[in-house]
Amino acid sequence: MIDNLHIKALSDIVGYENIYTDKAHLIAYSYDATRARFEPDCVIFPRDEKDVSDILHYCNKNALIIIPRGAGSGFTGGSLSIKGGIILAFEKHMNKILEIDMDNMVAVVQPGVINMDLQKSVEAKGLFYPPDPASEEHSTIGGNVSENAGGMRAAKYGITKDYVMALRAVLPSGEIIRAGKRTIKDVAGYNIAGILIASEGTLAVITEITVKLITKPKFTKTAFGVFPSVQHAMNAVYKTFANGITPVAMEFLDNLSIKAVEERFKKGLPTDAGAILITDVDAAAQNVLDEQMEKISEVFGLNGCSEFKIAKDEHEAKDLWFARRNCSQSITIYGSKKLNEDVTVPRSKLPELLDEIYEISKKYNLLIPCFGHTGDGNVHTNVMVDGSNEEQLKLGHKAIEEVFEAAIKLGGTLSGEHGIGISKAPFMRLAFTDAEMNLFRSIKKAFDPNNILNPYKMGLD
Ligand SMILES: Cc1cc2nc3c(=O)[nH]c(=O)nc-3n(C[C@H](O)[C@H](O)[C@H](O)COP(=O)(O)OP(=O)(O)OC[C@H]3O[C@@H](n4cnc5c(N)ncnc54)[C@H](O)[C@@H]3O)c2cc1C
Repeated sequence: MIDNLHIKALSDIVGYENIYTDKAHLIAYSYDATRARFEPDCVIFPRDEKDVSDILHYCNKNALIIIPRGAGSGFTGGSLSIKGGIILAFEKHMNKILEIDMDNMVAVVQPGVINMDLQKSVEAKGLFYPPDPASEEHSTIGGNVSENAGGMRAAKYGITKDYVMALRAVLPSGEIIRAGKRTIKDVAGYNIAGILIASEGTLAVITEITVKLITKPKFTKTAFGVFPSVQHAMNAVYKTFANGITPVAMEFLDNLSIKAVEERFKKGLPTDAGAILITDVDAAAQNVLDEQMEKISEVFGLNGCSEFKIAKDEHEAKDLWFARRNCSQSITIYGSKKLNEDVTVPRSKLPELLDEIYEISKKYNLLIPCFGHTGDGNVHTNVMVDGSNEEQLKLGHKAIEEVFEAAIKLGGTLSGEHGIGISKAPFMRLAFTDAEMNLFRSIKKAFDPNNILNPYKMGLD
């Protein structure tokens, strides 16, 4: 518990104006996108890396819990102070783009920089930062690195880890470390940056991030395909890639998701379709783009696509994307609570995964609309329940457990992008052996022997 003496000592480090203990702030920082609520003891806004170091040093000596927090847009409770503690927030001061190095095509940012601000700043200079989580308008680069966030463009451009070149971070002891370099090659020593990526704030506080930038392709095109069944669509997904085409994005909606968007927005969507696929391709030259689209149309046709539409301009492209952009909110017509997970499998296993999910849906008599980033094997699986019905909630959780089991059996993972946090912690046993979990715990202990940094997360405790 944090008493007044601790508050006084911490405010000696950051100044009274950067430490909040009033009820309004404690409530404001008690949520993330899980909508679970845990009030912290206080919220601190460090001004710089030295503040972070001094705060951690003090907390480590006094066994005080620290939880780093970006925008709080996480879906698994990673930034929640489930047993109290100090929220360390970066949006007030540590939110600057420090450098855009055009010669080496890298950017250096503080953890509180919003993803979209980085994208816009580098695009203004003709460069491109591809990771684009749907939360790009709010989520921070510090949070993106800590969750290894991915987005629609992951199918072609990869995810956050593919762009992190170097990090600066503060260990719970207060020591400052550097991991990685501004070089393409670096094989000296353990890959500590690799360990910190997706560590969900449990190992160190990230204070500076150096990311790789690339050149933005000039031409893009969007297309939309209608399929008689989810299986036809899933076959089309992996066969497109297997035929040597790598679309930027390949997203899908199943029948329940299509119907939900149509019911809410009346866009004239094909409500009798088993699934739709929406895909973007890009290239440096128009003829390459056209060749790619032709090939996709051919592969889709061979896999049962009954209607293939290519957007003529940006306006039409936006229209084709409408269903995908609005399906998450639309499927709430099926239940007051959605238990949404983001299991991911190798692309060729998508047809089997979807088969298993629909069997689980029948077994529990629960609707499970699915949509998502099939280009990278990531399916958003939404078990819909009446949140006030305890019995249904229990069934929903059982259904989710079986979805996890199916994904793991098919060589997949519990989470493609949302991480583990508290929500998926009970399921780590399905995905990892005792030896593997013990290795995770040893790594945690090496970084944080006193367990002060974001404890009780990731199934480690
Ligand atoms: C509408 C919506 C859409 C989303 N779409 C996507 C998507 O397409 N792809 C995707 O991957 N995710 C998505 N997410 C989930 C979420 O936005 C991402 O996980 C994002 O990376 C979290 O960033 P944040 O700044 O909000 O971090 P927070 O939620 O605040 O924190 C996430 C984790 O990072 C840790 N952390 C934060 N900053 C630091 C730091 N400086 N040092 C150490 N640890 C730190 C926290 O302790 C916590 O464990 C979505 C969420 C919402 C609400």
